Amino acid sequence: MQYDVIIIGAGPGGIFSAYELSQLAPQLKILVLEEGNPLDKRKCPIDGKTVKSCIGCQPCSIMNGFGGAGAFSDGKYNITNAFGGTLYEYIGKETATELMKYVDSINLSHGGEGTKLYTTANSQIKTLCLQNGLHLLDASVRHLGTDINYVVLENLYNELKEKVDFRFRCPADAVRREGEGYAVSTAAGEFTGRYCVISAGRSGSKWMEKVCREMGIPTHSNRVDIGVRVELPAEVFAHLTDELYESKIIYRTEKYGDLVRTFCMNPKGAVVNENTNGIVTVNGHSYEDPAKQTKNTNFALLVAKHFSEPFKDSNGYGESIARLSNMLGGGVIVQRFGDLVRGRRSNPDRIRESFTEPTLHATPGDLSLVIPKRILDGIIEMIYALDKIAPGTANDDTLLYGVEVKFYNMEVAIDENLETMYDGLYAIGDCSGITHSLSHASASGVYVARRIAEKESV
Ligand SMILES: Cc1cc2nc3c(=O)[nH]c(=O)nc-3n(C[C@H](O)[C@H](O)[C@H](O)COP(=O)(O)OP(=O)(O)OC[C@H]3O[C@@H](n4cnc5c(N)ncnc54)[C@H](O)[C@@H]3O)c2cc1C
Repeated sequence: MQYDVIIIGAGPGGIFSAYELSQLAPQLKILVLEEGNPLDKRKCPIDGKTVKSCIGCQPCSIMNGFGGAGAFSDGKYNITNAFGGTLYEYIGKETATELMKYVDSINLSHGGEGTKLYTTANSQIKTLCLQNGLHLLDASVRHLGTDINYVVLENLYNELKEKVDFRFRCPADAVRREGEGYAVSTAAGEFTGRYCVISAGRSGSKWMEKVCREMGIPTHSNRVDIGVRVELPAEVFAHLTDELYESKIIYRTEKYGDLVRTFCMNPKGAVVNENTNGIVTVNGHSYEDPAKQTKNTNFALLVAKHFSEPFKDSNGYGESIARLSNMLGGGVIVQRFGDLVRGRRSNPDRIRESFTEPTLHATPGDLSLVIPKRILDGIIEMIYALDKIAPGTANDDTLLYGVEVKFYNMEVAIDENLETMYDGLYAIGDCSGITHSLSHASASGVYVARRIAEKESV
């Protein structure tokens, strides 16, 4: 049970640490511990017929397993420092961009070739946004799509399994310093490694908090994003999505001066449930394969909520709001925009009569009973602002699903090597609190692998 490197978590961060280490230092004995299943055994039971909503499987096949939270995602691989995390603050913008491009090239060589790279450079949409008080963030986005993303992961796994030991359904319990290295305890026994790379993602956030507490690693957390997922006919946003695929647009509200932003745009996609620690929220994805596409486009509208002292539990705040929607709707609530602005709940009849057909089975209800007024006012204001660049957005039949919560892991104190106060103990990807995306998480994995390979070469 002795290894050179133990990687905890087989999401993009863990996968790319393992990949790069196996390239640069093939002599190292590497173990990847993963709470969830191998890729081919990850099956969410929701089929829309017998199982219509989340039944709280443990581990959750959407969030856990080889590929991590990104495995069934839309595979939007954003190459930018403008959003997706603050990795660049630790390693510099140039290195971060270089690493994201490097990971993109590996994805292409493992099944992603032929997928399209969209870019905001020289886009007229930027001008259109500015003329209407909206700001389009600069980015290049590779859209792998849920299907190709799966193929890339499958190919990476087939290559890695020959070089790296994987243990699935084997969550790490505790991590402790042992001699010059680390001991990781699991139900299957204890493993030791000279290096330990923790990449437990969003689903491992609570566990990561425990590790930091037990090892005395400083952390802080003060942000949560709360909002809704908007669903409308694909034609309404086609001029944006055809050119950019994903547009990250920011708006400052006139009423409160809050920032509202679009997030995770899925042209011709579907709205889906997301289960984080037993709380059902909403998300979205789309397929590259035209046969699997829908008539609708969906995206999130989120308002960032930052807290100052003495309140410390920003995620707890987001969870409470999500729990309230679960309490009222038994899961996710759906409401027509027209009903929301008229101050009435949507009921099954109104949803049935809506010209926009929902892609997620959610409970018709009233989001104003769940989402704080200030946040909801901001969302409504932004829908009217978006209506100016994409007429039809503020249509009565535009569907709003709630709540969408973007939890931010607490930020773990790490240095420019992404290393904690302990020599050889690294925190990367979303569990470090500094990445929130496939590209940044993967790049952080490559970065740490290179630091370890460097240490090994001296
Ligand atoms: C539905 C959905 C769609 C998304 N779409 C996109 C998108 O299109 N583009 C984008 O950039 N981002 C997207 N994201 C976000 C993206 O998936 C994450 O930012 C990214 O996966 C983070 O990678 P990670 O390796 O840090 O963590 P994760 O992908 O969360 O992986 C962490 C892994 O660690 C495992 N783990 C946790 N605790 C333990 C433990 N104690 N022991 C062992 N294993 C453990 C988990 O099971 C998990 O497999 C999406 C997320 C979701 C949920």
